[in-house]
Amino acid sequence: MMSEGWYGWKGKILRVDLSKSKIVKQELPKEYCRDFIGCRGINSKILYDEVGPNVHPKDPDNVLIWGTGPLDGTPIGMGRFSVTTKGLRNSIAEGGLGGFFSPELKFAGYDFIVVKGKSEKPVYLWIDDDNVEIRDAANLWGKTTWETDRIIKEEIGDPDIQICYIGPAAENMVHSAPLISGLTHSGCRSGFGEIMADKKLKAVAVRGSGGVELAQPERFMGLLEELYEYFKPENVMDPWYLTYLTGPPHNFIGNDLGNIPTRNAQQMGFENVKDVSGEKYFEKYYARRRACFGCFLVGQSSWYEVTDGKYSGTCGGGLWNTIGWGPLMGITNLPAILKAVTLCNQLGLDWFLVCYSIAWAMECYEKGIITKKETDGLDLVFGNHEAMLILLRKIAYREGFGNILADGVDAAAKKIGKQSEQFALTIKGQECEIMPQRNLYVCALGLATSETGPDHTRWYPPYAINPATFPIEKLKEVGWNIDLDKAYQSRLPEGKGRLLKWLTDSRASLESMPTCLSIWRGKYHVDLNYWANILTAGTGIDFTYQKLLTIGDRIMNIERSFNIREGFRRKDDTIPMRMQTEGQPQYHYGPLTPEKLNYMLDEYYSEREWDLKTSIPTRKKLEELSLEYVIEDLIKHDIEVT
Ligand code: SF4
Repeated sequence: MMSEGWYGWKGKILRVDLSKSKIVKQELPKEYCRDFIGCRGINSKILYDEVGPNVHPKDPDNVLIWGTGPLDGTPIGMGRFSVTTKGLRNSIAEGGLGGFFSPELKFAGYDFIVVKGKSEKPVYLWIDDDNVEIRDAANLWGKTTWETDRIIKEEIGDPDIQICYIGPAAENMVHSAPLISGLTHSGCRSGFGEIMADKKLKAVAVRGSGGVELAQPERFMGLLEELYEYFKPENVMDPWYLTYLTGPPHNFIGNDLGNIPTRNAQQMGFENVKDVSGEKYFEKYYARRRACFGCFLVGQSSWYEVTDGKYSGTCGGGLWNTIGWGPLMGITNLPAILKAVTLCNQLGLDWFLVCYSIAWAMECYEKGIITKKETDGLDLVFGNHEAMLILLRKIAYREGFGNILADGVDAAAKKIGKQSEQFALTIKGQECEIMPQRNLYVCALGLATSETGPDHTRWYPPYAINPATFPIEKLKEVGWNIDLDKAYQSRLPEGKGRLLKWLTDSRASLESMPTCLSIWRGKYHVDLNYWANILTAGTGIDFTYQKLLTIGDRIMNIERSFNIREGFRRKDDTIPMRMQTEGQPQYHYGPLTPEKLNYMLDEYYSEREWDLKTSIPTRKKLEELSLEYVIEDLIKHDIEVT
């Protein structure tokens, strides 16, 4: 279906009220597209405008938003989309997924789905071009995501429809339950799943028969050719990537640098890292490449199969990291790790909730804080992969000790006490990511300040670019005004604030088009002119390098303002106590002390023009971004904007 007067976007928001069983198709305001592009950007604006602090996350007025962008459904789109809600921690909850759902939604004629209200019984949404229905899902409640995928496809009679769903973990209100799409794409670890379950919405299925119209198709396709040429692996990939193409990160190098959180990050290197390395994965378990719609990186993720041993028959995808499963829990059995990843996708569990809560419990067990009495008889020593898999299922179904971990590490530490809070590795109530905060200060600052809780996808892992693939002296030619000498010294607090501002602004903008996080390699990430040209050719609206950075800044500010309105302040921008007090002498680095963290926060807030004491965006900054209505709104909520 083509939409008149719209290029790139389809110009439609699908609004669904589950309380009233009402479905409305609404025009997408053009100024939203100009000011926020799409996807994450427009999602954040809708959430800010429609869900205030008086709306509890489980209130029917809370909304679930699926957002695509103008590049989705085009050959450059990469199948990314963004889901946003107000999560149970009251912060903005947002995450991106890949696969094929977003182009299908565009082909059906919609850019956004906004769901509010609550159904009394389980339902799913079926979108078939113009025809949209709320269908009974009583037979799906309690089913795994993989079963749900199969049953809906059989019911509709079409194996090619695209579906997003939640698993039993979300239905059981397990902390940070994500949304899963296409069996193995998982997103929004800040807790979309629990809100979807609370609305009794099991799934959204879509089939579309249209396309996406481009403003300047020839220019657009010319830019695509250029992109394919540039992204030939030998032009942009490091030797590891060229050898292994896919799979978990190169643990060996990280291990030598002291970047691998081991046994709940008590150590930062794992003696058995070779057992869980990308190299081992590639040799034994990698089955084939797979990619999202139109991905020109041709399969950063892969499909795996275990063909022998205890876990024979395990298959799945989406493994991008073995560190949380291996070193963090002291586990060396790679097939068990693959089994755990498959189970997380099937049960709809957040990886980091599982890894960090079990690693924390293992440390409690090691220290004698808990015993077999509390763990339902499980011998929870570091490295026990069998106990890990049993506990993972118990978390999803809230059974026994799993019920304690299902509310997250902070809640579990509060219950268990005995100073176990000191090694609960969370930020803003959410389990950390696998990032060496004490050794890469920009990561620590990024995790501390992320509005959604710790999430490396808010910038790039770990820097914007791989300097080996793009000479640093060239960066200034494409608009970088960053003191690279300082910014690239990993444990120097200076220079990180300005670097992080650029990283997060540019990322917010790229995620709103959207394009994949994995584009971080190479010049097309750094040179936003390239993306400005693509967007202009696709949409007919004039975008420039500077406009993209301003839009990113606007998105960052509306997201911060949302959290400010919910009561979040500078005190919440922090990192776990372990990282602030314990060093790693064997790797020659100390803790990232509160003084250093405060220095970086000051620099970051100054760069952002946020108040240093509170982190509230200043009046000047919000005016500059044409967010005057946000100033008025914050004042209305008794928040001082200076
Ligand atoms: S790089 Fe991986 S996650 Fe990104 S679009 Fe390609 S296949 Fe999907």
